[in-house]
Amino acid sequence: FIMNKDKSLLGSIDSESNSRINQFIKILRKVCNRRELNLHEPFFSGNETKYLEECVSTNFVSSVGIFVSKFEKMLSELTGAKHVIATVNGTSALHLSLLCLGIRSKDEVLLPTLTFVGSANSIRYCNAIPHFCDISEDDLNLDLDKLRDHLKFTAEKHHVHSINKYTNKRIAAIMPVHVFGQPVDMETLLSIASEYKLTIVEDAAESLGSFLNKKHTGTFGEIGCLSFNGNKIVTTGGGGAIITSDDMLAKQIRHMSTTAKSPHPWELSHDEIGYNYRMPNINAALGCAQLELFSNLLENKRNLHMKYKKELDGIPWLRLISENKESISNYWLNTVIVKNNEDCFQKRLIETCHKEKIFLRPSWKPLHLLPMFQSCPKSELNTASFLQKKIVNLPSSAFL
Ligand SMILES: *Cc1c(COP(=O)(O)O)cnc(C)c1O
Repeated sequence: FIMNKDKSLLGSIDSESNSRINQFIKILRKVCNRRELNLHEPFFSGNETKYLEECVSTNFVSSVGIFVSKFEKMLSELTGAKHVIATVNGTSALHLSLLCLGIRSKDEVLLPTLTFVGSANSIRYCNAIPHFCDISEDDLNLDLDKLRDHLKFTAEKHHVHSINKYTNKRIAAIMPVHVFGQPVDMETLLSIASEYKLTIVEDAAESLGSFLNKKHTGTFGEIGCLSFNGNKIVTTGGGGAIITSDDMLAKQIRHMSTTAKSPHPWELSHDEIGYNYRMPNINAALGCAQLELFSNLLENKRNLHMKYKKELDGIPWLRLISENKESISNYWLNTVIVKNNEDCFQKRLIETCHKEKIFLRPSWKPLHLLPMFQSCPKSELNTASFLQKKIVNLPSSAFL
């Protein structure tokens, strides 16, 4: 009798889940108006081919050429940052930023546990130590109340920096990440950073076109980093950029990103160990064409979000993440939090969608759970652990 009762209970959860999943698939197909859906594809609708041909026909394909400086100038106008240094990818942008800000071996750098692995890798490339913090359920960004509490408990304020009481290491910097394009509350973060003397490197890899109080993400801290990987809102194939308004830093970063080559018309000399991190001209050519139509791209993204919002707002078992009053999101990736009635609902939803050729994704596995980061310092991370099984990213290509 008990077994039968359990079975029928399981059966009813099952059929409830199935009907939710079917409803969800119907909505996705209605909003996107096609049967097969990828998570995010690039959208080339302007001068991409023309500019690429220009690179090939003039032989300017590599790290010198008009498109690199043109791309940097366009990014500077868009973001309001005084200096832009285009790099080979976003991870190298983060790495070089940390180095040039003086992050050294054994320094700790605070960052959210829910981010792309490149954020934490860039810290390890400096032999520094990622120090993981929890996220907020509202926008999936760093939970700043928790961060404040954590630092109160963990950090000892000194004259020029803070020390982690438990590890005796310097807590040197913080790397806020504007996850999926939603801006972090930088005003609050700036006040925490100034209280604890933390340098700020913003990981704005996902937030080109996202603003907080009319100021572009990536321009609040000392340095911001962008990415133009194939899945980002603007792509150069692979690519990144460092944005800053600090003249000295910009000069140093430019130098270090071009193998620390001493300026001279023909002599080949280098004055320290630099990096070959400059963006090639063909990549920048793609980027220029993409940026020329960036306002269209942003508009498409916003429209897609509004269509999702209209269809999903009335559904009680999920929540679509939207921008708040002070911010403008680029809506790079639309994200829902599912309130599951069973433990593996998210997994089942994604599995079923994949069978239907709708390639949804969960978010990244929280970084503190990855083998190479398991022994890193961390705050309590309950929200990130809890949300890991609830986050689903929706198809978000700009042409939808
Ligand atoms: C894409 C991304 C980066 C950088 O990635 P690259 O592939 O190296 O350009 C860094 N952080 C976050 C959060 C990202 O999404």
